[in-house]
Amino acid sequence: MEINLEIIARISEIKENENQQFISFIKNQDSKEIDRLVFELNKSISVEIDCTQCANCCKSLMINVTDEEANHLSNQIKQSRKIFDEKYLEKGNNGTMIMNTIPCHFLNDNKCLVYEHRFEGCKEFPGLHLPDFKKRLFTIFMHYQRCPIIFNVVEKLKLVTNFKKKNP
Ligand code: SF4
Ligand code: SF4
Repeated sequence: MEINLEIIARISEIKENENQQFISFIKNQDSKEIDRLVFELNKSISVEIDCTQCANCCKSLMINVTDEEANHLSNQIKQSRKIFDEKYLEKGNNGTMIMNTIPCHFLNDNKCLVYEHRFEGCKEFPGLHLPDFKKRLFTIFMHYQRCPIIFNVVEKLKLVTNFKKKNP
């Protein structure tokens, strides 16, 4: 299993065309069966990968924050909401909020300082436990070289579905 992010980035470049073919291939497969395979692969692969050795999602993703989440976390870390917002959040005109730094403020030595109270988006990522893999191909491949779990699940999925790359 490959977990080195530099190697994954190099392989991703080499496999760009193959991955486009795989996306087309997956679109023609049965959605429920693909979800079943992805769930199984995700289970077996995610236990083999130590996220604290990686933390690349916390280092590279823009984190969305809801009002409720900001209230909850500011309470937990005993900061007024005003100070919490000033220190950690950037607000869009339409009411959206994101963390104002990448990597995330709460990442320390590859560990989340607020793990029990982290945001929904953090809990959900990389999202391979969610249904409708086929409908989320754009997002999955957006994170293919960011997340070793996604990379390895996709590579194994190619094998278990008997995907064959055609020469361009
Ligand atoms: S979820 Fe993926 S990107 Fe995030 S720490 Fe784990 S392996 Fe790395
Ligand atoms: S809140 Fe924690 S889990 Fe979420 S991005 Fe920040 S460090 Fe990572």
